[in-house]
Amino acid sequence: MTRPAPAIVILGNGSLATARKIQQVYPGALIHGLAERVDGADRVYHEFGATLRELYQQDTPIIALCAAGIVIRTLAPLLLEKGAEPPVLAVAEDGSAVVPLLGGLGGVNVLAREIAVALDVAPAITTSGELRFGTCLLNPPSGYVLGDLELGKRFVSDLLAGETLRIEGSAPWLAQAQLPENPQARLAVHVGHAERTPAANELLIYPRNVLVAVSADVGNLPSAVREVLHQAKIAVQSVACLLAADGDMASAALREAALELGVPLRFANDVGSVSELARTAIDQPVSNFGDEQVAVVVAAQPLDPMSIGRSRGRLAVIGLGPGAAELMVPAVKAELARANDVLGYETYVRMAGPFRADQVMHCTDNREEMQRARHAFELAAQGRSVVVVSSGDPGVFAMAAAVLEALHESSDAAWHNVDLEILPGVSASLATAAQAGAPLGHDFCVLSLSDNLKPWGIIEKRLDLAAQADLALAFYNPISRSRPWQLGQALEIVARHRTPDTPVVLGRDIGRPGQTLRVTTLGLLTPDQVDMRTMVLVGSSTTRVIPRPDGRVWVYTPRSYGDKLVPVQ
Ligand code: SAH
Repeated sequence: MTRPAPAIVILGNGSLATARKIQQVYPGALIHGLAERVDGADRVYHEFGATLRELYQQDTPIIALCAAGIVIRTLAPLLLEKGAEPPVLAVAEDGSAVVPLLGGLGGVNVLAREIAVALDVAPAITTSGELRFGTCLLNPPSGYVLGDLELGKRFVSDLLAGETLRIEGSAPWLAQAQLPENPQARLAVHVGHAERTPAANELLIYPRNVLVAVSADVGNLPSAVREVLHQAKIAVQSVACLLAADGDMASAALREAALELGVPLRFANDVGSVSELARTAIDQPVSNFGDEQVAVVVAAQPLDPMSIGRSRGRLAVIGLGPGAAELMVPAVKAELARANDVLGYETYVRMAGPFRADQVMHCTDNREEMQRARHAFELAAQGRSVVVVSSGDPGVFAMAAAVLEALHESSDAAWHNVDLEILPGVSASLATAAQAGAPLGHDFCVLSLSDNLKPWGIIEKRLDLAAQADLALAFYNPISRSRPWQLGQALEIVARHRTPDTPVVLGRDIGRPGQTLRVTTLGLLTPDQVDMRTMVLVGSSTTRVIPRPDGRVWVYTPRSYGDKLVPVQ
């Protein structure tokens, strides 16, 4: 399996040159720079601790160009909770020291060596086994998996104490290690896919060379798989992936079984039976077993699951929030990191980036929403991980509904089988309201003033009723060059039900460079103060304004009417 690209985290411009050198070793790695201290980073962050912890929790390898102590203290609260962890390294700002800190089993020493070569220094490797034998026995290469870590640790400390070892089976990567081999040794490394209880003094390493084809109809799938493997005397650890027919792609039982067995789930064209499915997936099987519902094939070499069939495609419709990176929810950041393809209006795709070289951007015009939604399904149906970006929240006058419309119109099973998820974002009305105080603190109504997709008559009617109902109002798409008169008309309708001193908040480019926030009143508001990048919030009859010490004001709508009479008309 390929390792995710590391994140290179720097605190100042002084580290940029070293960071760039490291980036040349990992072209997919992004340089994360502290806002206001670093010019020209790929990603900007505001808080070092939160950023480092988030990367760690997302299993991203971390290369931090700062003191080792800072990294240790920052990650310390997370260390107890976690078994597997990503590699974490501290590198001196000037590139003079490379210190692997965490993630010994995740290959931190491999990274340390690679970076040290690029910086022309010696890595600070402290792992005894690795120093002595030049490899970490407990971290076999991809395609192999260690049987038991605790047993492994004991095994390595025995070796360090001076014991020798035998290697049984094929372990090509150990050929270059300087292991103290001896055919009569008490300790043995055993590499093989057979189910076996480890003999005393034996370290088991399993090649992942077994494929299991299954049908989604099987009851209790994980135990059925375990049973067939047991009958065939094959270790469950050697399973490289589960394979099922395309038609079963949306099956939750299959997804859960793969999760429980800890293996990837792949899909191929339905060829009638699971045994046929298994046979067609592998060129020259060594052996095969199984029944009508679970078929097992053993290959001569470890299998790369990514080259077998395809995965279930994924389509996530995400909300970026108003613009600022810290207002983007972590689930959205994680989704962007796993995306193969990113689709959207060019401004938003750029806002979601930068992207790695292996990620494909598909930028389109803002008006081609249905076409974009269909394109997203076509890509996801090929097994790709696709992200459609919206600003704010994708469900608020944005792409989520367009994507669901495209799905509803389609009878293509491959589209319906896609793993579709909508991930929310901070919508412009909420981001604007937060900056102004709490103008939407009581009941409110959200309206788009665009009559591109609905008749103006409907908008007038809704405005009239919402204003009459004394709801605070949030106007999206308030005005544009092609819709110059609508806002003026809308304000006239609202003015029939609200006094001229009703507070109005205008948020422009909120959360983006050059943002502005204005508080005015309904009586003073004119359409020329508003453009298509503005959010208009109109207060209700109870909305108040109170001064802030810096000369600005807070706007809020109380949670209750208190003793004020609710206007009835
Ligand atoms: N899905 C978006 C809204 C898309 S409609 C969301 O949830 O925010 C586009 C309208 O949203 C714009 O015309 C403007 O009225 C408003 N808008 C979007 N981003 C904004 C921002 N950063 N600041 C102010 N208004 C914004």
